[in-house]
Amino acid sequence: MWWAQTHNKRQRDGRSAMARLIQKFGGTSLADIARIKTVAERVRREVEHGHQVAVVVSAMAGTTDRLVAWTRETSRLHDAREYDVVVSSGEQVTAGVLALALQDLGVDARSWLGWQIPISTDRVHGKARIEAIEVAELDRRLERGQVAVVAGFQGLGPDGRITTLGRGGSDTSAVALAAALKADRCDIFTDVDGVYTADPRIVTRARKLDKITYEEMLEMASQGAKVLQTRSVEMAMNHRVRVQVLSSFIDVPGTLVADEDEIVEQQIVSGIAYSRDEAKITVQKVPDRPGVAAAIFGPLAEHAINVDMIVQNVSEDGRADLTFTVARADLERAVSVLEAKREALGFSALKPDSNVVKISVIGVGMRSHAGVAQKMFQTLFEKGINIQVISTSEIKVSVLIAAEYTELALRALHTAYGLDAQE
Ligand code: ASP
Ligand code: MG
Repeated sequence: MWWAQTHNKRQRDGRSAMARLIQKFGGTSLADIARIKTVAERVRREVEHGHQVAVVVSAMAGTTDRLVAWTRETSRLHDAREYDVVVSSGEQVTAGVLALALQDLGVDARSWLGWQIPISTDRVHGKARIEAIEVAELDRRLERGQVAVVAGFQGLGPDGRITTLGRGGSDTSAVALAAALKADRCDIFTDVDGVYTADPRIVTRARKLDKITYEEMLEMASQGAKVLQTRSVEMAMNHRVRVQVLSSFIDVPGTLVADEDEIVEQQIVSGIAYSRDEAKITVQKVPDRPGVAAAIFGPLAEHAINVDMIVQNVSEDGRADLTFTVARADLERAVSVLEAKREALGFSALKPDSNVVKISVIGVGMRSHAGVAQKMFQTLFEKGINIQVISTSEIKVSVLIAAEYTELALRALHTAYGLDAQE
């Protein structure tokens, strides 16, 4: 991603109170006109403190789901360019209404759609990536004290048509804008008050983290924590954008996502995530010879089906069972792709199973501490939970278990790693 040159003449001596902030508001914060007015008050507060503010908005809660449903209802195999025209419209409404609400409070504000800035993306309609943002005009207006209200989730493709960035994409709009405008911080206002050590709806003793590193947040997001869109964290990490996740309903500090060296007290494990979005496939009794893995995973890749965890059990008769996970949404397709190759691959049966959950323990401290994985295995063993597949990275251990053990496993691991809040 590259940025058009900014004409940023601001003096930043570190003590000066003036900052440039990006504030992103999610759908629940904008669910009706009363809430949008509350958001406007919040924005005004920053303006009155002398800050420059660009706001990025999502659609009103529920709107994008409804728009997506309309496109499906109309045409099952819809044209992705028209899908983008329809589903991007929710953000047009909230951007305009918030600009009106701000003006009504006497704040100089102007709305911006993706094509007006423009926020240029690649051509992948429905899940486009931001490639460049033209910030010169926004920069000038921010310097003048005008608030920019930017429609999130949308951009302009090389074909001159509206694109959208994938569900949850307004987080990415906000971080990209923060990078391009060289903002001091990007505040993501949402319906939770920060990032927790585990999902507080399941683990009641979960604690809010004051800070978390980019890498940990990236793992948390991609392993199922739904607080931020994964791409937005990737972008924040690449451009070193300081991101704060906080509630738009209660006035308490949230969680800062930042560089490792900003985080003084580092736990070995920072959080535990879970994902119900995966499904398992076991290919039984494939001939155990060179090239078999390539023959199985090649066709899946050709059909753009991502494989995540993999395990192979070799048996004595020269055959092996290969077990792996794919996104639950891809399960049917994966099975039919492999069934079509049954003869060539020579396996005896295919066993799909979507009754699974992936649990991941995450922490940068794992790099320098041994025994983290062992503690996970021991804890699950003590609860009588069978591990079906394991995968690891430098800062993460993931296991696949039967879905009915989700709560039990999360709570036990949370306690085992010393993450429980004190009573
Ligand atoms: N409104 C879009 C969605 O629901 C984008 C977003 O909220 O981030 O996915
Ligand atoms: Mg969101």
